[in-house]
Amino acid sequence: MAIVEPVASTSANEPRRLRLRSVVNNEPIGEIEVQAAAEVRAAVERARKVQPEWAALSVERRAGYLRKVLKILVERQEDVIETVIRETGKTRSEAIPMEVFASCDALSYYAKRAAKLLAPQKKSLHGVMRFMKKMTILKLPLGVVGVITPWNGPFILAVNPVAQALVAGNTVLLKPSEVTPFSAQLLAEFFEQAGLPEGVLQVLMGDGETGAALCEAGVDKITFTGSAATGRKVAEACGRRLIPCTLELGGKDPMVVCADADIESAAAGALAGAYMNTGQYCCGTERVYVVDSIADEFIEEVVRRASLLRQGDTGESDIGAIFWPRQMEIIETHMADAVSKGATVRVGGRRNPALEGLYFEPTVLTDVTHEMQIMVDETFGPILPIMRVRDEDEAIRLANDSHYGLGATIWTSDNQKAVRLAQKIESGSVCINDMTVTYGCLEAPFGGRKSSGVGQINGDHGILGYCHQLPVIVDRFKGKNSRSFYPFSAKKDEGVQKAVRFLFGSSLGKWLS
Ligand code: NAD
Repeated sequence: MAIVEPVASTSANEPRRLRLRSVVNNEPIGEIEVQAAAEVRAAVERARKVQPEWAALSVERRAGYLRKVLKILVERQEDVIETVIRETGKTRSEAIPMEVFASCDALSYYAKRAAKLLAPQKKSLHGVMRFMKKMTILKLPLGVVGVITPWNGPFILAVNPVAQALVAGNTVLLKPSEVTPFSAQLLAEFFEQAGLPEGVLQVLMGDGETGAALCEAGVDKITFTGSAATGRKVAEACGRRLIPCTLELGGKDPMVVCADADIESAAAGALAGAYMNTGQYCCGTERVYVVDSIADEFIEEVVRRASLLRQGDTGESDIGAIFWPRQMEIIETHMADAVSKGATVRVGGRRNPALEGLYFEPTVLTDVTHEMQIMVDETFGPILPIMRVRDEDEAIRLANDSHYGLGATIWTSDNQKAVRLAQKIESGSVCINDMTVTYGCLEAPFGGRKSSGVGQINGDHGILGYCHQLPVIVDRFKGKNSRSFYPFSAKKDEGVQKAVRFLFGSSLGKWLS
């Protein structure tokens, strides 16, 4: 992610501007103009104006735009890779799967399934109601949706919610992070190239001020991905306006390594989980609990593998840059706290002295405790703290000793035991013998518990989150029953009580109800 600094303005009437520099070499990479509340409101009005026409298209026509963008993305993947690397400093080998592949997959997934999922659904009613009424559930768009995104996956974290909201018939205002604005601009360019009608997708440039203005600008839903601290502010704003929001927030994902785990795979999985995206992955492995009987062997294998990793921005490298200085500060604070309280640095533990940019070496720590920030607060860096535990019960207890609950992983050769343990972990999702891959499994409802979020996204559930499900109930007797509604009488009351006794008190009635 870029280094952001304000540009000095020459007059008080000028809009605020931000200059961005590369975290790799400090070179300028562009400027953005911060959109103020009035511009945000104007954008919402434009979006509201064109929304009925967009919603009037068939779902297949709307899905057609996703297919066109998919085609453009396949052709222009180098543009995405270049843009993401320029504004984040992530390695090419991270940008390709996380930003390009996952975005293609999301566009293809929703384009293929939307028509079936959004079709009106006839549903028969229960009990005696089924003889009196019939029901159809319509999946109507909410209207105008605000999407606010963070910097760690600037292309995919925009593509996924935008595709779902658009195909459901909403118009969208996308507010990307001020430190990675260019990926969102590129996505809007792809939609423009695909011929998307004007105003259906608009990108709002700016920082927290623009995001806050969007929450207050009269949209019908906010989809927010970012930190827990900002998520709370977004929730408050949406609460005041009584609009729905989904909040995909931070995490402190635990990894539990059982005594029967395959040690080589678990060690490799720990590194992938902790260092993917230079540790700046919401579902990254942030802490490991390994059962004592295999701890020495596991730690040795982790240390051996971590020592072989290559860091840099040129050629083939495994670990990229920290995406912005604020994140480096958090990492260094957590590291200093851990070391001062007795943690042992087994690998790394410092900024990479051989590289000019914002690089922190892939790090392995042991002798850590829950008294240390590194085990309780989100670090979001390439740090792997490993704690030895007596047994699996202690591992689960410590895994749950957190205010976060986004993802978790369990490593064992016993799948049945894994499922039993998974149910005990307070987590949005659990992966067995893998790093957390839930976001990529689009069928999975994805979301956090505790301070990791509110609501779930992705899959059928996610796309329906951009709809109002409207039940339309039709009386089979064309309303004739309403003629006998009034007057009330003791005789009618007795009739209803008789029905209660029959329907909920007799065997035939229970079967019918
Ligand atoms: P952040 O909360 O600082 O910013 C996120 C977005 O919110 C940015 O676009 C920012 O400009 C905007 N914003 C800031 N103040 C706002 C306000 N008052 N109202 C509305 N919008 C406002 O988060 P970040 O540092 O960009 O992202 C990193 C965090 O995101 C980490 O905690 C990470 O775990 C989390 N994350 C979660 C998921 C998930 O799916 N759960 C995915 C990726 C990242």
